Amino acid sequence: MTATPTDAGRGPKASAKDLPSVDRLLRAPAAAALRAGHGHTLVAGEARALLESMRTQAVAGTLDSARVAPDALDAALAQRVEARLAPRMRRVLNLTGTVIHTNLGRALLADSALQHLLAMIAGPNNLEYDLASGGRGDRDGLVEELLCTLTGAPAATVVNNNAAAVLLTIAALARGREVIVSRGELVEIGGAFRMPDVMAAAGATLVEVGTTNRTHPGDYERAIGERTALVMKVHTSNYAVQGFTAAVDEATLAGIAHARGLPLASDLGSGSLVDLAAWGLPREPLPQEKLASGCDVVTFSGDKLLGGPQAGLIVGSREAVERIRRFPLKRALRVSKLPLAALEATLRLYLRPERLAQDLPTLRLLVRPEAQIRALAQQLAPALAAAVAPRFAVEVVALQGQIGSGSLPVERLPSAGLALAPVAKPGTGRALDELAAALRALPLPVIGRIADDRLLLDLRCLEDAASFVDQLPRLREVLA
Ligand SMILES: *Cc1c(COP(=O)(O)O)cnc(C)c1O
Repeated sequence: MTATPTDAGRGPKASAKDLPSVDRLLRAPAAAALRAGHGHTLVAGEARALLESMRTQAVAGTLDSARVAPDALDAALAQRVEARLAPRMRRVLNLTGTVIHTNLGRALLADSALQHLLAMIAGPNNLEYDLASGGRGDRDGLVEELLCTLTGAPAATVVNNNAAAVLLTIAALARGREVIVSRGELVEIGGAFRMPDVMAAAGATLVEVGTTNRTHPGDYERAIGERTALVMKVHTSNYAVQGFTAAVDEATLAGIAHARGLPLASDLGSGSLVDLAAWGLPREPLPQEKLASGCDVVTFSGDKLLGGPQAGLIVGSREAVERIRRFPLKRALRVSKLPLAALEATLRLYLRPERLAQDLPTLRLLVRPEAQIRALAQQLAPALAAAVAPRFAVEVVALQGQIGSGSLPVERLPSAGLALAPVAKPGTGRALDELAAALRALPLPVIGRIADDRLLLDLRCLEDAASFVDQLPRLREVLA
């Protein structure tokens, strides 16, 4: 091995000539054992990639000669193979303070939903098979009756997500014609889901009425014409217009639409099947209320406040739901057996509303008492302080969390947590970024938020304290 002395004080560097060939690396006993376990294809591919990247570093003069020692090469190869097999989708600890966090997978499934999901995918099931007649069944049929019971709707159907539900509703009821929406409701939901674009994608023409802050019944009445096919309300879930405002409620709008023979659709976004005020939470509109007000179709998400899997729920009149179900796009947007199994089990929990705050994790987290969260923060503070000392100081703080996923954007959930602040003032921003990165690099990544020169960990969603505490020795090592 030739070692070229390089930059000041660092160890000797290897040259490309010091690297073995792919074949030689693969013939080593350690690599042979890897091949016996994982097969030749994966191990050979990783050996090639490893040597290639080391060759690049050697040419650049940055490859330490210690890394080309046979043992080090074997270890590096084993590590690459392991990393390649590790899933990219990982569990994380959501300490952001946002309970239904879209980037972190939204609602957590209830135990019964997880169990039912696992049981249903473990083998064949009656997804589209009628066990009574032995004939073909309908996947919607598995949850339609439940959805009707829970919302009072005469009919219901399910698609892949609520964006799909809105797209399909507009396409089925208004393709090639006009849809009337208030200017105050032309929202962007995030991820490029903008009402005007959805309208265009569905092949309908958007007719905007009113102004950003005020829309009146007369605005809708004047806009209805020959080409109108649908009147639509969109719940402005992720922002609030405050001050001098006016909007037309569903009951009034239903009167206007029905007098002209037109259906009224309402996109609720989150939509909760139970009145959250019963648990002291801010109120979110319920699909059952919108239907009772005269809406012909109501759409909402499965994985927001409902607390289930990703799905788009469509409830409404028999006629409107039948048109939606028969529209060809429905087939492209249909829900698969995995979410459908989880959805059915989640909906069944709503048959026992008194138990919901225990059974449904999303609701359980939303109603978690502030005092309990604060007590947990106090309990964890000393161990966290020891792990991040002496670079960071830890303090128990009151925090304001939120429901998330566009629900009740201006309402805050009083919460508590831990604030970590760099002890040395200069370089605060960099120190916080480094700390956040160290937390994300833990085996169970911890996701907090940075605000006001501190890293905040809101503990509302930390139910299993051990999952956090067990990682503190590792955090201490990384920060040392
Ligand atoms: C979240 C939301 C949607 C999109 O629902 P997904 O289930 O995310 O597809 C549509 N409309 C409104 C008002 C929303 O809040």
